[in-house]
Amino acid sequence: MRKTEPETGIIFLPGLCFCDTMPCSFLRRIFFCPFYSSFTEMQMPMIFVSKCLAGSRCRYDGGTNLVPAVRALVDQGLAVAACPEELGGLPTPRIPSECCGERVRNREGTDVTAEFEAGAKAALQIAQENGCETAILKARSPSCGKGCIYDGHFCKKLTAGNGVTAKLFLRNGIEVLTEEEYLSRL
Ligand code: SF4
Repeated sequence: MRKTEPETGIIFLPGLCFCDTMPCSFLRRIFFCPFYSSFTEMQMPMIFVSKCLAGSRCRYDGGTNLVPAVRALVDQGLAVAACPEELGGLPTPRIPSECCGERVRNREGTDVTAEFEAGAKAALQIAQENGCETAILKARSPSCGKGCIYDGHFCKKLTAGNGVTAKLFLRNGIEVLTEEEYLSRL
């Protein structure tokens, strides 16, 4: 739960109550914490979010995957946004890539594993420097996807697995939610 208005106890962050001492699912619905005053010194960790979810046009085709609720986290100073593929040195727009086993290849067959791994490491560094314990990452992406990703044949078919950045975050103890999981908790 993020502290905001000491006088009123109004919570600015519906859907993300971290206090663990309250019936959080209930608090999410009423957006008000009657015991707020006892948490006035609490500072909750920043959240790492995929930059395209925050409205940046960093997607492979120059588009965005804007999710207003994720953008709001950044605007309120509750989240830090970054794009692992750009951090890894890939241009925008760029040729789309998919994971093929442990490698990542773009649609023209070029191996871009090194760029994806460099971007994942840079994203992890940003997350760790900001003390992030949770990340909201774009579903199905070869970098950011968690649980299922495109299968490497560029035919929109999914397979079980995690993107390169999601995998590194999970390995380093950062909880990863897709934007769909995050929205389902609001
Ligand atoms: S790498 Fe992640 S943040 Fe960047 S465009 Fe792809 S899904 Fe979005």
